[in-house]
Formats: sequence, C-alpha cells, structure tokens
Amino acid sequence: MLEMSNVQANLKKLRTKWVENSNWTQVTLFDAIAFLSTEVAEVLDLYLRTQPYERNNPQSVTKDDFGEELADVVIMACSVADILDIDLGEALEAKMNKIDRKYS
Ligand SMILES: [Mg+2]
Repeated sequence: MLEMSNVQANLKKLRTKWVENSNWTQVTLFDAIAFLSTEVAEVLDLYLRTQPYERNNPQSVTKDDFGEELADVVIMACSVADILDIDLGEALEAKMNKIDRKYS
C-alpha cells in the first residue's frame, strides 16, 4: 500500500484535533468538495499572478508557495476521501495500475 494511506491517517488525526479545538462540529461532503475545489483554484490563482498572465504587476511566486497550496489540495482530498470512507493509498495504487496497463 502506498504511503498515501499513512498521510491520510495522520491528517485524519490532525483534523480531529482541529475540530475539537474549533467551533466546527461537522464538515459535510459538500463542504469538503467545495473546499477542495477552492484549494485547486488557489493553485491556479498563484500561477495567474506570474508572468505572462499578470503583465502589469507580476508577483514573485515561489516553489514554496505552490507547495503550500498543493498541500492544501491533498489535505482537502483526504477530507473528501475520509467522508466517503475511501483509502486514498489503495485508490491511488488501483489508479496507477490502471494507467500502467493502459500505456504498457
Ligand atoms: Mg490554500
């Protein structure tokens, strides 16, 4: 099984702690999918702040900036997977095998 299963399990523990220490009692599937979509949009937003898209005032966007936003995407993907009771490690492995068979 891929390390993704461990990442997902650790994020679930962290999320439990966040929920306990906040006013949020439940994140619905809709909430999680909406947040996932927002985080993907934030990656695109970073890209659009760079040249050549932002010609008048391009910003200095670093690899770390992209890393932080991509981490948000993974965190929210794990939230969606947890709500749907999907092991992302298993899902990734199955998908990679499917892609490998298709292109072998
Ligand atoms: Mg973000």
